[in-house]
Amino acid sequence: MRLEAVATGDSADRGVGSARESADRKAGPAEELYGPDGTADGTADGTADGTADGTADGGVDPPDLKGLLEQELQELAIELGEPAYRGRQLYSWIHERGVDEFSAMTDLPARFRSQLTSGFRVSKLRQTERRESAEGTAVKFLFELPGIGHVEAVLISDGDRRTACLSSQVGCPLDCQFCATGKMGFRRNLTAAQIVDQFLELGRYASERQERVTNVVMMGMGEPLLNYDNLVQALRIMRVEKGPYIGGRRITVSTAGYVPGIRRLADDDLNVGLAISLNATTDELRSQLMPINRKYPIAELLAAAADYFRRRGRRVTYEYVLMAGVTDSDEDARRLADLTRDGVCKINLIPYNELTPAPGSGSPEEYFRRPSDERVDKFREIVALRSPHTVTLRLSRGRDIDAACGQLYRELRR
Ligand code: SAH
Repeated sequence: MRLEAVATGDSADRGVGSARESADRKAGPAEELYGPDGTADGTADGTADGTADGTADGGVDPPDLKGLLEQELQELAIELGEPAYRGRQLYSWIHERGVDEFSAMTDLPARFRSQLTSGFRVSKLRQTERRESAEGTAVKFLFELPGIGHVEAVLISDGDRRTACLSSQVGCPLDCQFCATGKMGFRRNLTAAQIVDQFLELGRYASERQERVTNVVMMGMGEPLLNYDNLVQALRIMRVEKGPYIGGRRITVSTAGYVPGIRRLADDDLNVGLAISLNATTDELRSQLMPINRKYPIAELLAAAADYFRRRGRRVTYEYVLMAGVTDSDEDARRLADLTRDGVCKINLIPYNELTPAPGSGSPEEYFRRPSDERVDKFREIVALRSPHTVTLRLSRGRDIDAACGQLYRELRR
């Protein structure tokens, strides 16, 4: 239930209750896909307590104001007996000034501050590591969720662009065979606040260098569309061009192909870009590489993508990872061009980033290889000649710091 839906209610309790609900949106875990405990590693995940971010010991944290829109903070202020502009001040402290302690919000009245302190919080991800790539084009941020695991975000520099690649989940339930995040199984959905907080942290780093984050891609850890409500709330915050935020046109959500999520996103009025990790051109291979394809095969996925363009007017990007001897044949290139022919889209080829296996693990991380540069060029040439669409090659940044696509997972190697 959205806060504004009940903000006209006359009971302050009811209002604050709704703010609570709004800030603690429930996690939408993987049961829908693989059954009640069918996460990739077979464990039931940490959302068993029913909240998006219950504490590690199973308690429930107070509502997190970092996950609320400015409008919702104003409504909260009113519900707590303050004028609406107090909500705007709160917004400014949290999002524009990056202050997470109510006690430091010096222009708020003491009574309001103590109300906030006793019933609410402003969360902050604990940053445990930051690594800069040798060539300076990628910076990887590692955040710890105590008792749960780590998530990563990467700031990628390319010309004037500063792209924040953000995570949506700790781990991922989809078990794509080639992806490092898939190896850790699903741990937890991030809250809206935790998604936004990654942006704020990267934004702070950029602003210390007189730069700004210009783009957001939801291409870090996790499947964003399986954490739909929290994702959308975070997008609603980031798509308001205000303070550090950047507007929906410069935000892209990437999905492994969770079709119901694509359909929902088409229904919503966010107008963010959509990227689809296609990665294979036959259902047989795609189902092996990406088990989600067994439930939502290529034809359904392409239909949902076409519908997204029709409804939202945003060209879809197909991501295609080139794995030597697996997805990089001439025939694959032709099929890729043919499959995506109708439709308004862009094709982005990503040469596979090899994963460093955990020492002695003998894990399948070793099985996939990056094709040679010649093979990549040839593949691109075939697609480009045959396809009416723009074909780009992604030069993954940050391979030396394991920050490139699909490399976002370190715990195994610790
Ligand atoms: N779950 C979403 C968001 C993650 S995006 C999705 O699948 O789209 C991560 C992107 O990196 C996806 O396009 C994925 O196919 C790609 N990828 C995963 N592992 C990779 C690797 N080792 N090398 C290159 N790309 C990889």
